[in-house]
Amino acid sequence: MDLVRIKNVEKKYKNGVTALYDLNLAIEKGAFVFVIGGSGSGKSTLIKMLYREEKPTKGQIIVGGLDVAKLKNRKVYKLRRKLGIVFQDYRLLPKQTVYENVAFALEVIGAKKDEIRVKVLKALEDVGLKHKLHEYPDHLSGGEQQRVAIARAIVNDPKLLLCDEPTGNLDPEMSMEIMKVLEEINNKRGTTIIMVTHDKDIVNKMKKQVITLKEGRLVNFKKKGTYNNEAI
Ligand code: ADP
Repeated sequence: MDLVRIKNVEKKYKNGVTALYDLNLAIEKGAFVFVIGGSGSGKSTLIKMLYREEKPTKGQIIVGGLDVAKLKNRKVYKLRRKLGIVFQDYRLLPKQTVYENVAFALEVIGAKKDEIRVKVLKALEDVGLKHKLHEYPDHLSGGEQQRVAIARAIVNDPKLLLCDEPTGNLDPEMSMEIMKVLEEINNKRGTTIIMVTHDKDIVNKMKKQVITLKEGRLVNFKKKGTYNNEAI
């Protein structure tokens, strides 16, 4: 079963730049997919369209049965509940503890206190940070902060986890730790993961699916891929 279907999608920005041309793609449930390609190849645009930060100018995007471009603004929450998003720069609340940062994602959807506690502790356990729940973000390493951001993204058990260069600010060792955490989430929770990256070593080590974009076009989609030269 496909969790994501992209049909004949074009994205042209208002300034006239076409970021993506006639993109067709299907990503099955439970997949782990890297999106690679040079700067400006359309990677972020693709991710942004999946969470409805941007709308395609042509074509159709289906995520978990929802027709993303056609969703009314007041229904976008239905899509967002199916998704977790992780960014390069963590985006944690500095004055909130680790626990509070993760709990926040559930508080905004009105979850009950007991349910919040159970889910937050489970998410922190899954990222290996249960022992740091009372810490503040600035007392954590970059890798730990990113693990908190991952816990926040998975706390409501989304079907899809979108990661936009999650290891972009981390050294190789911390990057591999993040990759282990993501792989485990993919294996244990069955969460589908789509991750944009520039990191050649990571792509080559993980042997996951690899989508290569070049100048707004999909040029390669491999089931067990490596970082290919078309991405440069
Ligand atoms: P990547 O993530 O691969 O670096 P992007 O998706 O950010 O690529 O960008 C693809 C193209 O779209 C680039 O030419 C970029 O300048 C352009 N672009 C991205 N965002 C916008 C925007 N908000 N308005 C206009 N052009 C944009």
